Amino acid sequence: MAMDDYYVHPTAVVEEGAIVGEGTRIWHFAHVRRGARIGCSCNLGKGVYVDVGAIVGDEVKIQNFVSVYRGVEVGSRAFLGPSATLTNDLYPRSFSESWEVVPTVIEEGASIGANATIVCGVRVGRYAMVGAGAVVTRDVPPHGLVYGNPARLRGFVCTCGRRLEKVVRMKLEEVVFRCEHCSREVVVSRRDYERMILERALRR
Ligand SMILES: [Zn+2]
Repeated sequence: MAMDDYYVHPTAVVEEGAIVGEGTRIWHFAHVRRGARIGCSCNLGKGVYVDVGAIVGDEVKIQNFVSVYRGVEVGSRAFLGPSATLTNDLYPRSFSESWEVVPTVIEEGASIGANATIVCGVRVGRYAMVGAGAVVTRDVPPHGLVYGNPARLRGFVCTCGRRLEKVVRMKLEEVVFRCEHCSREVVVSRRDYERMILERALRR
């Protein structure tokens, strides 16, 4: 394994057998286990842990003290905010004999806010945004904005991260927003849009 095409701080541990892409930087006290796969140009902050078999794409930013456990797959350009928590066990018992990893997928470009908890078995769609401190127990659709405990779908966000307010076209299968910040058009499915309308009306 060539050590010279990515950076590892002297206090970090990258086990033999971990795969780390070019240009990635691994900061103080981070720990990357054997069999972990990390793409190119990622940034792993202080105290980040990447478990055996965890997969991280390219250009991913993982802030301080995030643990990416086995069974978690993080897509390219995703952002994991400081102390966000990802789990991999739906029936945690210290004495359990039949432990089973439940996979979690964070799709391309999605952002997880500081201190949010993603309960395993969910898929956070591409370019979705999870608010700080949210507890996510259900799938988040692409471009979905969720927050709260339990996290509810409250709206949609643009690729640029800003909230989408303006619907420019409504079709049978899809709803098209235009971002007032960057003028991009973002298409979300009509089903996800209806779900958002319902969940936004919920008290909690
Ligand atoms: Zn935008």
